[in-house]
Amino acid sequence: MTDVLISGAGIAGSTLAYWLARNGLRPTVVERAQGMRSSGNPVDVRGPAVPVVEAMGLADRLREAATATTSIGLVDADGRPIARMRTPAARGRRSEVEVPRSDLAAILYKAASSDAEFLFDDTITSLRPDGDGVEVEFDRAAPRRFDLVVGADGLHSTVRRLAFGAEAAYLHHLGLYVATLALGRPAERGDEVVLFNAPGRLASIHPARGSALAAFIFRGPPIADFDYRDTARHRQIALEAYAGLGWQVPALLDALRTTDDFYFDAVSAVRVPSWSRGRITLVGDAASCVSLLGDGSSLAIAGARTLADALAGHHDVADALRDYERRHRKLVAPKQRNVRMAAGFLVPKTRLGVGTRNLAARVLP
Ligand SMILES: Cc1cc2nc3c(=O)[nH]c(=O)nc-3n(C[C@H](O)[C@H](O)[C@H](O)COP(=O)(O)OP(=O)(O)OC[C@H]3O[C@@H](n4cnc5c(N)ncnc54)[C@H](O)[C@@H]3O)c2cc1C
Repeated sequence: MTDVLISGAGIAGSTLAYWLARNGLRPTVVERAQGMRSSGNPVDVRGPAVPVVEAMGLADRLREAATATTSIGLVDADGRPIARMRTPAARGRRSEVEVPRSDLAAILYKAASSDAEFLFDDTITSLRPDGDGVEVEFDRAAPRRFDLVVGADGLHSTVRRLAFGAEAAYLHHLGLYVATLALGRPAERGDEVVLFNAPGRLASIHPARGSALAAFIFRGPPIADFDYRDTARHRQIALEAYAGLGWQVPALLDALRTTDDFYFDAVSAVRVPSWSRGRITLVGDAASCVSLLGDGSSLAIAGARTLADALAGHHDVADALRDYERRHRKLVAPKQRNVRMAAGFLVPKTRLGVGTRNLAARVLP
């Protein structure tokens, strides 16, 4: 087996391309976007991802790109401080970094780009698997045959849809929505994430790098016929959820009203009973994630390395895919269980819950 097609040049896709090439395979990566963008939501590289990025020689690059946040401050509706917590970086865990997601993706892409083929501005349109390979058609490139196809194309994976079926069967709404947007100006404090809560709603300003990032995370039931691409509807949902709140929320909503460049989605857990069908498999968010609060980036990096190692360590592809899934599921399962607790801390449901959380933040180390 030599030719592997990876759909998605995100966190998992580029990491996988790097390690497959290192192990002597020929990876091709197809990415829907036209190129790699910078900035974006800050994500953590920690736990099982740390040895992977260190083995790729990327630890220094990631530290250079890291955000400078050392604390998380809770404020009330008038902006008065309630509590302040230190981040892992401030507690001396230098190997764990927080990096804007697109910068992380760009660093991983650069590491993989010299030994893998990248096709930007394209997408898979059909997959025809047979016993020992897959015939693939693209939107733009000519059809090709690959020995293995890997879906690393995120929460709304096209490979998963084509090979496993409609995403409604695999995405489970977790009762939260998230919206983020770049404010185009620096935060007042370059080292602190500021959080403001009302029952069931969180608004925050993250210094990110240079351009502060506003995030809204709020509770809500599943919305009938929710479409993750319907920007106008997303704006309306977020504006309604935050109407009448204090702190800097009115100014953040003004920014939301006037931008078209914001991220919005339902927070979901992806649960796929088996990650592989013949010569097609899934990695990263496409296979298993909690799309927020679940260490998705770190698990995407770790899962990609585990998949590459399993393919290198087995003659039989089916054995390799089983081994990858068995090993990586052990890391994923606890994250999927812990998300409700994390959500309870970050977005308490009631006024009493907000008060209790604030007290805990003041007294806990
Ligand atoms: C607001 C927010 C905050 C987050 N914070 C954190 C955090 O603090 N810590 C953390 O660990 N994780 C965090 N995450 C989660 C993290 O971003 C994801 O888990 C992680 O990016 C998953 O990596 P991935 O490679 O599987 O998918 P992605 O990074 O989503 O990459 C998928 C890639 O596939 C491409 N693609 C999609 N469809 C196609 C297609 N049809 N054809 C070709 N290419 C395609 C996309 O353009 C993208 O490049 C956060 C997520 C969000 C939304």
